[in-house]
Amino acid sequence: MSNTNEKKYVYFFGGKKAEGEATMKNLLGGKGANLAEMVNIGLPVPAGFTITTEVCTAYYANNKNYPQELNAQVMDALKRTEAEMGMIFGDKDNPLLVSVRSGARSSMPGMMETVLNVGLNNQTREGLIKKTNNPRFVYDSQRRLIQMYADVVMEKAAGLEPEEGKGVRQQLEHELQKMKDAHGCKSDTDLTAENLKDLIEIYKVKVKEVIGKPFPEDAMEQLWGAVSAVFQSWNGKRAISYRRFEGIPEEWGTAVNVQSMVFGNMGDTSATGVAFTRNPATGDNYFYGEWLANAQGEDVVAGIRTPNPINEIGKDEHTRHLHSLETAMPVVYQELNKYQQLLEKHYHNMLDIEFTIQDQKLYMLQCRVGKRNGPAAVRMALDMLKEGLITKEEAVLRVEPHQLDELLHPIIDPAAEKKLKPFAKGLPAGPGGAAGQIVFNSEDAVEWAKKGKLVILAREETNPEDIEGMRAATAILTARGGMTSHAALVARGWGKCCIVGAGTLKINASAKTITYDGGVFNEGDWVTLNGSKGYIYKGELPMIKAAEENPDFQSFMNLCDSVRTMKIRTNADSPEDAKKARAFGAEGIGLFRTEHMFYGLNSEKPLFLLRKMIASNTVEERRAALAELFPYAKANVKATLEAMDGLPVTFRTLDPPLHEFVPNNPEERSKLAKSLNVSATEFNHRADALHENNPMMGHRGVRLGITYPEITEMQVRAIFEASAELIKDKKNPLPEIMIPVTCAASELKDQYQIVDRVYNEVLAKFGIKEIKHLVGTMIEIPRAALTADKIAEYAQFFSFGTNDLTQMGFGFSRDDIGSFLPEYLEKKILPVDPFNVLDQEGIGQLIEIAVKKGRATRKDIHIGICGEHGGEPSSVEFCHRLGFTYVSCSPFRVPIARLAAAQAVARAK
Ligand code: ADP
Ligand code: MG
Ligand code: MG
Repeated sequence: MSNTNEKKYVYFFGGKKAEGEATMKNLLGGKGANLAEMVNIGLPVPAGFTITTEVCTAYYANNKNYPQELNAQVMDALKRTEAEMGMIFGDKDNPLLVSVRSGARSSMPGMMETVLNVGLNNQTREGLIKKTNNPRFVYDSQRRLIQMYADVVMEKAAGLEPEEGKGVRQQLEHELQKMKDAHGCKSDTDLTAENLKDLIEIYKVKVKEVIGKPFPEDAMEQLWGAVSAVFQSWNGKRAISYRRFEGIPEEWGTAVNVQSMVFGNMGDTSATGVAFTRNPATGDNYFYGEWLANAQGEDVVAGIRTPNPINEIGKDEHTRHLHSLETAMPVVYQELNKYQQLLEKHYHNMLDIEFTIQDQKLYMLQCRVGKRNGPAAVRMALDMLKEGLITKEEAVLRVEPHQLDELLHPIIDPAAEKKLKPFAKGLPAGPGGAAGQIVFNSEDAVEWAKKGKLVILAREETNPEDIEGMRAATAILTARGGMTSHAALVARGWGKCCIVGAGTLKINASAKTITYDGGVFNEGDWVTLNGSKGYIYKGELPMIKAAEENPDFQSFMNLCDSVRTMKIRTNADSPEDAKKARAFGAEGIGLFRTEHMFYGLNSEKPLFLLRKMIASNTVEERRAALAELFPYAKANVKATLEAMDGLPVTFRTLDPPLHEFVPNNPEERSKLAKSLNVSATEFNHRADALHENNPMMGHRGVRLGITYPEITEMQVRAIFEASAELIKDKKNPLPEIMIPVTCAASELKDQYQIVDRVYNEVLAKFGIKEIKHLVGTMIEIPRAALTADKIAEYAQFFSFGTNDLTQMGFGFSRDDIGSFLPEYLEKKILPVDPFNVLDQEGIGQLIEIAVKKGRATRKDIHIGICGEHGGEPSSVEFCHRLGFTYVSCSPFRVPIARLAAAQAVARAK
């Protein structure tokens, strides 16, 4: 380098030592950093150099001009490369060829594809022919260069957008076909050296005609053209939209790697291949990969020829007859095997490697951390921990929370899904996949399911009356509603596949049709849902079963438990759910919605009594109805506490908008009127009076308890009496009473008097000294968060109801976001659905304030979250950072929360 003070833009790799290393990904890109690292640990890597990401940034900052020093630094690195390889770029006797490879921090669609054989032209090819004595190989390389270069450099990276079918690649392929036809050739390999030589000249004419510019013959011009194309492609349409989608900042830039070519296509002693240090589909610990003799570049992955298994252990019934590298070139294979072991030890991870063999000599061309599916990720994390390759904390970070979905739910076979396009999309409300026949109402769902059919219940949106059909269906699809709509909440609670808010579908329940842009579905038609992504496909796709009973899964969960510090509870609404939650590893119930005893199986009687209570007009009427309801409530509470013996259960007092419970059915109304001893007109009058314009902000939660104290009293008594009975049975109930929708400390003060009074009455009645319990509140209204210090004077715990807190904090109606949220996300007005991922920036502040103020009043106040966010990984991490006592989520998300809580600890280390 001429001047030691100037900025370093180019990093050489090759020989024994590279100028870069693996930690320099930001500067050298992923590919460049790992190439340098491989050189440093002594692997054979064809020499070359990396132009840094800073050049990309500078290039755009400076009106698409390179830094002045760049040219000299590139020439310098090129010289070193030539010296290392013993060849000269552009030389007519002993030409060096290079590949130009893009290299962002992580591989990115939309970036320029690699161009191979750069430096080849009508002059340099003569030297190469002499050297290799293989004219056919040289002409083939040259025509490949022209084809690749014209396509990726001259057309795509330049931003040209030819009409469909008019692209330069297709036109050149057309010429290739014409040449084959003219000489009666079936395959490319049938063309002779002479044919290819002629084709090269035809290609050049065609390129000029299609692009309007000649293909550059000059080697140096080719090199700079390809380098510039990489930088251009950073700001190509596809790359920009990918970045936007993934939140990758524009300033990151891409690096460019220029590397000496090695040839896997020089005959049968040459080859190219791709391998993984462990099986990425199963996690099994053996070297796994594919190779092809006499091939170049991406022939292996392009699927033009069927690749061979790399070794004997990797063979299966489909590949048994093929030749493995292990037997075809045993010495080279052993060398490769040694390198892959070395690399895994060095990186402490499963790697994906690319290699090429030129005339029995092995070269390493790339390595990076390998992609893997969920089950494989879990297996590898456990194995590597056992092998002492990684720590516990590293092991829990090796599995993405969403990958656990692959173990917990059936999923669509990814190979089948990859081939299809969804015909519609919605919000991913319940993970996993499901295929089924469409039905349009709850009764049909139950009916068809009884006959053993798999059904998908399609509704405009669901309501509590659909519950049995939702249970019977294998998946639920709605056209309206958001991530916290009724359908989404219920489905998630059951771990059921569900897509909501698929706004482009017109679901007509009476006509029993779904109309979409492009067609109509009728009852009984098959569709397949990907509830993790919100994709809807036509027809029945193959499924892969859930692996809940996978022993690896259990061990991995135990590992997470040994790392995390925050407790995980679940939201469960019935004794059955409580049992299930326990089995999933929940350490308590963070939200038990008492009103759910009025839905679903065996709910007719309690629902009738509740309705009677609601339609009561006087305290006496109401007390009478409540007295009838009491045994049901108590039995429900008792069975739940029993199932969760020794673990806390948070009972939320009644919190529904009352009108939801008023029946519309005249028969039901007249039954109720009779039982209340009032006329039908009087009953209708009372029912209509319950109508509210904005029930979400209406007469609900603590407001009910204040206006009708006898409702609170009944529930509290049910909880304490159930507990007292269990204590007498030598059980250990730990009830927590939670008052919802609080906005002022005085509301709690009012309710506490009831709780205290009933508590003492129950102690006296049962002759016991104490029932361990806590009384607290939900924080779900911004005012409650802001006055949390006052509220904490009464509340022994806070549980953040982040569904409502988000609703009221944003002013977005949970039930109506379907009409605008998808567009908000599309236009990036919001980065994510705030009902799915906690908005740490805004709503998070309310939570932080409440936590701080709550602790100021009551140092040891318990703090939890019971909104849907309690099972969302980034939100769980947020809760961990604020020192929450627990998060509570739906049962099927408990494993994900356990993992996320462990990862929060591991990341903080
Ligand atoms: P990607 O980003 O898609 O992995 P690469 O830059 O790895 O693209 O290039 C794709 C393929 O081209 C490589 O897998 C390798 O087979 C081939 N290739 C790249 N550079 C060279 C080289 N210097 N010599 C031989 N083959 C190369
Ligand atoms: Mg590629
Ligand atoms: Mg590659």
